Amino acid sequence: MMKKKLLLFTAVFLLVTTAFSLISCNNAAPAKYDFFAMDTHMSIRLYGQSANLAAGGIEGQPEFLDSVLSVTDEESDVYRLNHAKGETLTVDNHVAPLIKLSQELCEDLDGYLDFTLYPVSQAWGFTTGDYRIPEQAEIDELLQKVDYRRIEADTETFEVTVPDGMMLDFGAVAKGYAADYATEILKNTGTVSGIVDYGGTIIPWGMKNGKDLWTIGIQDPEDPSSYFGILSVTEKVISTSGGYERYFIGEDGKRYIHIIDPKTGYPVDNGILSVTVVCESGIAADALSTALFVMGTEKAAEFYQNDTKYHFDFLILDEEKHLYLTEGIADSFTLSNGYDYSVIRIEK
Ligand code: ADP
Ligand code: MG
Repeated sequence: MMKKKLLLFTAVFLLVTTAFSLISCNNAAPAKYDFFAMDTHMSIRLYGQSANLAAGGIEGQPEFLDSVLSVTDEESDVYRLNHAKGETLTVDNHVAPLIKLSQELCEDLDGYLDFTLYPVSQAWGFTTGDYRIPEQAEIDELLQKVDYRRIEADTETFEVTVPDGMMLDFGAVAKGYAADYATEILKNTGTVSGIVDYGGTIIPWGMKNGKDLWTIGIQDPEDPSSYFGILSVTEKVISTSGGYERYFIGEDGKRYIHIIDPKTGYPVDNGILSVTVVCESGIAADALSTALFVMGTEKAAEFYQNDTKYHFDFLILDEEKHLYLTEGIADSFTLSNGYDYSVIRIEK
């Protein structure tokens, strides 16, 4: 295990130093750092100075995302916890804080988010790809194993206990947590501006070309190579959850998506195509985009109107081509040419 980590570490270090030495002679071009983790594409673009210094601070990110948090890598901390049969394990020092933050989010989000849903999503075949429609009795039984409150995590000793039969899956929040962490390091090492994009959780900071806001395209769920609109922002996190990211068509001809309602154990089927959340924190944006998707548009709007903690905005696109947009980002959003969505503004 150590050897594999060391190899990975060396490979990433070489990659990073090569990438940064190639570009550091040209100030106008961004420093680029790309990698694949959590089954998705991750990219970082940095402008200005301190590129090498900044790169040093984030070189452990791919290992963190995969070797620590993967549900399928047998050597990862999450895998080991999920198979520890209730035994307490000492794990990477990011895992306990991630659990604490996630528990707070799950609580605030009324259980529409639950990072212990894995036994249920595994039964549907998500993450392994062996898709099937489980029997109701099987789902009912597996739901007994879902309850984020029962996970114990100590942020001082880094000890974590997952009760026997329960399993963790940080798929809904890990990219946001890691993006927050990376951005903090990159900002602190003096990069003037940049963009971290961890598989749909995007954090831009500073100004583009020293003067402009960043334009963040929002993917068209029906044609993910196009953008149905753009958000002009900076110093915000933009996170999108889409049913189009991962799904299967069942034997009954229905589409089953990877976002699951923890209250029923079923993939969400409420007419929403995608949810984009804009807020100050990556982990909150990532958690909110998934949870609002599960809530549905009406509850999401209510949650927005009652919120005094997360200060977020959202964009929800549904199958009827309604685009619900909260007032805080109404002026930052531009619908692309050729999209005849009916835009519905939600006031606070
Ligand atoms: P993506 O950016 O890949 O679309 P999301 O941030 O929307 O992902 O998170 C979806 C992932 O989170 C799923 O693949 C699964 O691992 C997990 N998940 C699905 N439903 C829930 C839920 N209700 N609460 C917590 N995690 C979930
Ligand atoms: Mg999410």
